[in-house]
Amino acid sequence: MTKSAKKFLSPAPLTGTTGTRGIHWIKHEDGKRLWLVLDRAAVAVNTFNEPVFRELDALLDEVEAGDWEAVIFRSAKQSGFAAGADLNQFKGLKGNAEIKAKVDEANAVVDRVAALDVPTVCVAHGICVGGGLELALACDFIVARDDASFGFPEVLVGLHPGLGGTARLTHRIAPVEAMKMMLTGRTQKAKKAKRLGIVDLVVPERDVANAVDAVLSGKVERKTPGAMAGATNLYPARVAIARQMRAETEKQAPSDHYDSPYALIDLWEDHGGSLSDMLEAERESFANLLPTQTTQNLIRVFFLRERLKANGKGKSGVKHLHVVGAGTMGAEIGAWAALQGMTVTISDPFTEALGKAVKSANKLFKRKLDGPDLLAAQDRFIPDPKGDGVVSADLVLEAAPEKVALKHKIYEGLEAKMKPDAVLATNTSSLDLNELARGLKKPERFVGIHFFNPVSRLELVEVVKQAKSGDAAYETALKFVGDISRQPLPVKASPGFLVNRALMPYLGEALLMIDEGEQKERIDAAAEDFGMPMGPAELADQVGLDICLAVAESLARDLDRPMPEIPQWLRDKVAAGELGRKTGKGLYDYDSDGKPKKAKVKQPPTAAMQDRMVLPMLDAIARCLDSGVVEDADSADAAMIFGTGFAPFRGGPMHYARDRGYTDVRMTLSSLAERHGERFEPSAWWRKAEG
Ligand code: NAD
Repeated sequence: MTKSAKKFLSPAPLTGTTGTRGIHWIKHEDGKRLWLVLDRAAVAVNTFNEPVFRELDALLDEVEAGDWEAVIFRSAKQSGFAAGADLNQFKGLKGNAEIKAKVDEANAVVDRVAALDVPTVCVAHGICVGGGLELALACDFIVARDDASFGFPEVLVGLHPGLGGTARLTHRIAPVEAMKMMLTGRTQKAKKAKRLGIVDLVVPERDVANAVDAVLSGKVERKTPGAMAGATNLYPARVAIARQMRAETEKQAPSDHYDSPYALIDLWEDHGGSLSDMLEAERESFANLLPTQTTQNLIRVFFLRERLKANGKGKSGVKHLHVVGAGTMGAEIGAWAALQGMTVTISDPFTEALGKAVKSANKLFKRKLDGPDLLAAQDRFIPDPKGDGVVSADLVLEAAPEKVALKHKIYEGLEAKMKPDAVLATNTSSLDLNELARGLKKPERFVGIHFFNPVSRLELVEVVKQAKSGDAAYETALKFVGDISRQPLPVKASPGFLVNRALMPYLGEALLMIDEGEQKERIDAAAEDFGMPMGPAELADQVGLDICLAVAESLARDLDRPMPEIPQWLRDKVAAGELGRKTGKGLYDYDSDGKPKKAKVKQPPTAAMQDRMVLPMLDAIARCLDSGVVEDADSADAAMIFGTGFAPFRGGPMHYARDRGYTDVRMTLSSLAERHGERFEPSAWWRKAEG
């Protein structure tokens, strides 16, 4: 290996190399080895699109015409090898033959790599997912740098791999493991990828050159799936396993709403026995999925997330978070922040609450980490009964019970101890931030950072300014949310902000239906059939009936709108301490794993039940748009998907309204108003949107 090639191996900086730069690829000749380095122009992360493949295709002409000993693929980006297809090119596709032709064209380039006579190596660092992994799998060898991660997240956008990945992965490693990876969309770290047989070697950057030499010399033996695992690619085994996979998948992504996992299972069941058959069938299946409404909506959701992410760009400078209150939310927020690398101290007057918080944090850490990383996260999460951490924290987040006087008292104590430039935040769901700010010595550093439950699953965080919040504190709050891999949404301080204001009419209607004698399991089933991750009764228990009651009461008090009446039995339950999942009893009873004990649904739910719950949610969002609580309909869609799990395949509530037709939504609300009362009267926003 020449000196210049050694320097060239490192993704950055690439200046001073002897490579020849095209637009997206750099070609570097290293004796008889040719390095093809992907460096897509004008982006920080490599993704594939037509121009990138076209340029590679031309480079392959040179490879085929030359007399090379090996071709080695690498990326020049710090972020990793490649994140897959550029989803921009899939936006707004409509069903036509052109899609299949484009899919075939891209595949022809990857197939050309696979068919090269000269040995090929892919050296991957950072992210190597989707199309990135598909190009890697087309190479003879994969060398992973120790920070690399591999996966096929296509299922999350309503697709499956479409550049030969389904066929090549199921033939390279144990097919069941390959299918599991593709069906869940989960990524695997380098070491696990080696154990699975995806990669040949895992090395630190300094050993990459030697690793390339080693795989090319034939000295490295790849882990093969073994006879038993290989046999699962035989037809009778595939049929039996596919049946099981469908049943498992149905629980996570119902076939009524999601096509791609089932298309993937069909593909493997029908064609898994032959690499070439599966390659061909994969293209067809991928092209069929692309223009479907579900896929287009899920691609939309991907971009909505990017939009939210942009709100929290940049580093906040927060290194130490102190959480006040180790209940449902405080414990979750603290654990999540520690998982993401923050030092977290957490206080609560009740040591029992702190004990519980440590236990649940450990559960989260163990689910996500192992080895030294696990120990480090455990060290970062510090129970702090006396609140000693307040003096050194950069951000103090209060998650104490929803009572103004109590919160005021807590702030008084905190302000006396906090660093002068530290930010003070509240996680309140329903209290008026301006009222909470009253009496503060430094109201300019006080903001709302409103998380959703469970924090590890719901990515959204509403970030709220009160009248006296300063820009610096607000910016820190937005960036802090970004730092811990959650998605911030700026919202105006107003009752319920956006998400609870939209969610409460939905939950309230469900509670009223229970009050009218409707079976709660049937109500939940109606919402789940619509595509919600859980029904409103289960959700109310999950949030906590006390919190629901507080939010419902504050909205009824503060909003100039009729709301569903709160049934007396809800108040009784709260008074009796039956608060939902956290107390083991609420609308449902809970088993020791925290699962609700549900009775069988007596009668199938109806679309009318769905309308009665979902349309008031849409109407509340329309009102928020009208009064500027949230900037625009796309932000509102993002918020409801990432804050409540609103059926992602529908592309968000307002997108659903657009698909269904604003006029239909408005007229259905009017007829619901006639039947059930004034609270369904449609907002003026609908007529304006109808144009
Ligand atoms: P919780 O009752 O589960 O927890 C509150 C914790 O605060 C308890 O552990 C309690 O011991 C502790 N506490 C009581 N007095 C305290 C004091 N003086 N100092 C410090 N801690 C004290 O409540 P929660 O559901 O975690 O809600 C906390 C806050 O988060 C509320 O403002 C609520 O509106 C908001 N919130 C809740 C949810 C939810 O889904 N539960 C979601 C978003 C926001």
